[in-house]
Amino acid sequence: MEKILALNALSWLDRNPQLMVIVQKYGGTSVGSFDRIRNVAQRVKALHDEGHSVAVVVSAMSGVTDKLIAMAHEMSPNPSERELDVLVSTGEQQSIALLAMALQESGVPALSITGRQAGVRTTGSHTRARIDSLDGAQTRDLLEQGNVLIVAGFQGVNANGHIQTLGRGGSDLSAIAIASSLHADVCQILTDVDGVYTADPRVVPDARKLPEISYDELLELASVGTKVMQSRSVEFAKKFGVKFEVRSSLNNNPGTIVTEEHPNMESVVIRGVSIERSQARVTITSIPDQPGMSAKILNALAAGEINIDMIVSNIASDGLARHSFTMHTSDLGRAQAALQPVVSELSPDARVETEAGIGKLSVVGIGMRSHSGVAAQMFQALGDEGINIGMISTSEIKISVTVPEAKIEDAARAVHASFNLDKAPM
Ligand code: ASP
Ligand code: MG
Repeated sequence: MEKILALNALSWLDRNPQLMVIVQKYGGTSVGSFDRIRNVAQRVKALHDEGHSVAVVVSAMSGVTDKLIAMAHEMSPNPSERELDVLVSTGEQQSIALLAMALQESGVPALSITGRQAGVRTTGSHTRARIDSLDGAQTRDLLEQGNVLIVAGFQGVNANGHIQTLGRGGSDLSAIAIASSLHADVCQILTDVDGVYTADPRVVPDARKLPEISYDELLELASVGTKVMQSRSVEFAKKFGVKFEVRSSLNNNPGTIVTEEHPNMESVVIRGVSIERSQARVTITSIPDQPGMSAKILNALAAGEINIDMIVSNIASDGLARHSFTMHTSDLGRAQAALQPVVSELSPDARVETEAGIGKLSVVGIGMRSHSGVAAQMFQALGDEGINIGMISTSEIKISVTVPEAKIEDAARAVHASFNLDKAPM
């Protein structure tokens, strides 16, 4: 990727500096019906009429990718991943052609192009490929000729010319990569949310839309349940310094700018609060306090393909160790099955205990790096609400706790209020 980008002259578009190169991405919901596609066409037409150069990356209409995957499973319980890519990539080819037609209908010179035509070269496994490089030469030529380009997201071709897809939600990655290769002035991810909020407004009614958030904060929030866009695309944007905006495809409100952290960014300790439901805990008690025990347990969980999240270990007063893990409740049964044989090997006294009905609450903010007392304030807010904290884990810019699932919404509101997240900082 670096190689190709370096070849691109910075201001390749020799024209009025007021005019911009704009990359927009519309997700499946935004192109989910013929009316929605016409709505997108009107928005794109407005930018084209102002004279900007516009490349639009689109996903498949909502539900189409799932339907295509289901079709594959009708043919084979275990379809070839190469053929799956050939099949699912057609979802985006439908939506690009339809959007191009809608634009042409309103007099806009629009052209749809596939990932291959857009120069998206992929590498790695089918169904979850990575972008290896992007040759934007043809895209630039077509834009310079005055076309609005409608690019199929989610797809590219590998070195052998085989179609590959970029993992679910991969159109976000396509858009960021194309914005990077075109040195776009503006990159917008248009979606069915208005931007990134301090908390889920359905849970915390006074949640506030953030004007800006750093890549790292958005990645941490995504890792704890705030789904805005594909995480790999945010990592890619960070790596290549692509600043972008998440905003609604249904109104013209300003959204949230996602960028590198900078000194003028609203200086707050906490940027946002996120919750995850349906968590469960597994605790193994009476483990001999000896080297190799934790590895045995984790190897068993890994072999059972159980995704564990928080890990807490300690030594009880009897000198024996206990390890606790959290996971999604749907993995609990498999985790018990995977652990049973290992636990009796550890010691005849070792036991597995489980608990479901757990929620996880996380606060995220780069301000934590330079402020102390964040955890204390969070725990105080929960204590004042009478909410009991189970496990705790932290990273440089995140603190997560488990609480009873029935209390997770109260917990989110209490912590949100304690950090004054409803108010823009002075
Ligand atoms: N259509 C693909 C999916 O549903 C890619 C995307 O929507 O970004 O995962
Ligand atoms: Mg999508």
